[in-house]
Amino acid sequence: MKKSQEYFEFRVKMLNRANGKCEICGKPITFETMQLAHKIPQTKFYLHKYGKKVLHNARNIVVCCSLRCNSRALMSPATHPLEANQLIEQIQSEIKKEKP
Ligand SMILES: [Zn+2]
Repeated sequence: MKKSQEYFEFRVKMLNRANGKCEICGKPITFETMQLAHKIPQTKFYLHKYGKKVLHNARNIVVCCSLRCNSRALMSPATHPLEANQLIEQIQSEIKKEKP
């Protein structure tokens, strides 16, 4: 996400989606304490393979409260190939629909 305003709005959107709770353990979170975890990690390899639009898509993001929950959100294609592939296909077909 290039602009900080965009990132701010994205965080607000994600906090709303999570209803102010960690999406892993359910603990209440605030805008200040929330963390955004990537299911498919944003490593150079996956960024190159799938692109920013996929990795930074809301579906690839989990709202969580701590590093511990952050690591539980991880769904790397290396360890969860089926789930990860499903997620990627879902995001890619949504991105296609967005285009006019
Ligand atoms: Zn949590």
